[in-house]
Amino acid sequence: MPELPEVETSRRGIEPHLKNRTITGITIRQHKLRWPIPKDLPSLAKGKKVLQVCRRAKYIYLKLDNGNIIIHLGMSGSLRICTNKTPPEKHDHIDITVSGNTILRLRDPRKFGCVLWAPTDINQHKLISPLGPEPLEDVFNAKYLHTKANKRQCSIKSFIMNSHVVVGVGNIYASEALFRAGINPKRKAGNISLARIQKLVDAIKLTLDLAIKEGGTTLRDFTGISGQPGYFAQKLLVYGRTGKDCTVCGKSIKQVTQQSRSTFYCSTCQR
Ligand SMILES: [Zn+2]
Repeated sequence: MPELPEVETSRRGIEPHLKNRTITGITIRQHKLRWPIPKDLPSLAKGKKVLQVCRRAKYIYLKLDNGNIIIHLGMSGSLRICTNKTPPEKHDHIDITVSGNTILRLRDPRKFGCVLWAPTDINQHKLISPLGPEPLEDVFNAKYLHTKANKRQCSIKSFIMNSHVVVGVGNIYASEALFRAGINPKRKAGNISLARIQKLVDAIKLTLDLAIKEGGTTLRDFTGISGQPGYFAQKLLVYGRTGKDCTVCGKSIKQVTQQSRSTFYCSTCQR
């Protein structure tokens, strides 16, 4: 599943091909994604200029002067840039064509993604308004997270994966950040000192930053038909490393299940 770093990498990849271009047409081949693509999307967007290509949580949106086209990649979606010389394939559900015969094409085999229209401020949209802060922005800081965690009995791992608390910390990044911060993933969220929450906030930001940088280096090409935008190998410290040596203390990495998701951690380094 594309996580925040992959989505941000996708945004950066498509931005230079779309920004300040005018939408000349939208072709919808499959309306039935997670929610139906609005039938009037082509008429709403045609002739409008793409002012900005933005991201909020795992939503990419194209800001036009009369509204926003919201795109979510779901479980298996990916975006690529091509021209009309590239014939669409089976799972290429929508083409957004801009001036210069450039096409933004969404491929989504499992159809859990979406393409929606938000006529007003994106933050008022029902999918966006309940979301917590962006992890890489200053509003996500130790004071915020510590206050939010006050008296919470859930595990710190499920707490930081809750999109009402902070967006974009998926299963992989939660394990990785808790390892970097030296915090046991099973510890109760409300039971962690401000100083340790500070370490966790720093670790979340570092983990996501590194993944975005990795994506930037491994994923330069969003225009190649053979390109596989959206997924990249990451250097992982604990995730998927059950039984392997901890990179810090050499003991075996453990795996447990929390909220039916796998958690990986070192019981020596993480307290
Ligand atoms: Zn260790």
